[in-house]
Amino acid sequence: MVSCKIVEKNIDAMLDGRTDKSAKKSITAKNWKIFNKHLSSCEQCQKSYKESENVKKALGILRMRECPPDLEDNIKKRIAEQEARKKHCVR
Ligand SMILES: [Zn+2]
Repeated sequence: MVSCKIVEKNIDAMLDGRTDKSAKKSITAKNWKIFNKHLSSCEQCQKSYKESENVKKALGILRMRECPPDLEDNIKKRIAEQEARKKHCVR
């Protein structure tokens, strides 16, 4: 019987393995089956799997989203404004 700990440890690799062939190689085909079987019968691990999946999705969206070209200028402008305000307060 596979313990939850072992499955949880490999959840990341399992998630990557669905899209990344080299990541899938880090889990043997035999273990892949065992983990999937455990996952389908264990509520706790299903929860962990879903949570990891959500995190990965969120990260993927962040990575895909391009920064607007004027973002850096906007940040610099805002910092300059804040600095100016600070100096004003001190005086
Ligand atoms: Zn489990």
